[in-house]
Amino acid sequence: METSEPLARPTVDLHRIADAVRQIIEAIGEDPGRPGLADTPRRIADLYAEMFAGLREDPLVLLQRTFPEPHQEMVILRQIPFYSLCEHHFVPFFGQAHVGYVPKGQIVGASKIARLVDVLARRPQVQERLTSQIADYLMEGLRPQGVAVVVEAEHLCMSMRGIKKPGSVLVTSAVRGVFRGSGVTRSEFLALVRGSAS
Ligand code: ZN
Repeated sequence: METSEPLARPTVDLHRIADAVRQIIEAIGEDPGRPGLADTPRRIADLYAEMFAGLREDPLVLLQRTFPEPHQEMVILRQIPFYSLCEHHFVPFFGQAHVGYVPKGQIVGASKIARLVDVLARRPQVQERLTSQIADYLMEGLRPQGVAVVVEAEHLCMSMRGIKKPGSVLVTSAVRGVFRGSGVTRSEFLALVRGSAS
């Protein structure tokens, strides 16, 4: 299963990123020595270390601490803001994730769900995979009756280059377990998520 990937990844090599950025600056015909650009390689190295920190975190660790709870109704955390970098262009896509699950004997702190979204967003990503990974990790870590995820995001690689359609929002969804089997449960989730639209 995709969620069981090993996490033996080396730490970020900041010097190597900085060297590469210096080369990019030269390659576009700019002067890496001019004052405004002199610290840019180091800044970008720090930025990438932060934006890709999720590569060195195991999402399942976040879900280890759960609380026994007989509640069997839907739990939804909506409007979770996230920022990610698309793996095709390394430019941001960002928006909101809405995550719902139906517990089966245990619940997890809401902040852990938000952290899960963050850890998975801070990797080179595509929105479709981000969406299904959120669902799959929750299924694996929490073992609920089901999970539903909707992600809405604007992609700067689409807004600022290429076909230039600023404001377009890509919507992706993933449903697992009881959400997949029951149209009523799915509709309840979507109605509660839409209730947030303002
Ligand atoms: Zn892109």
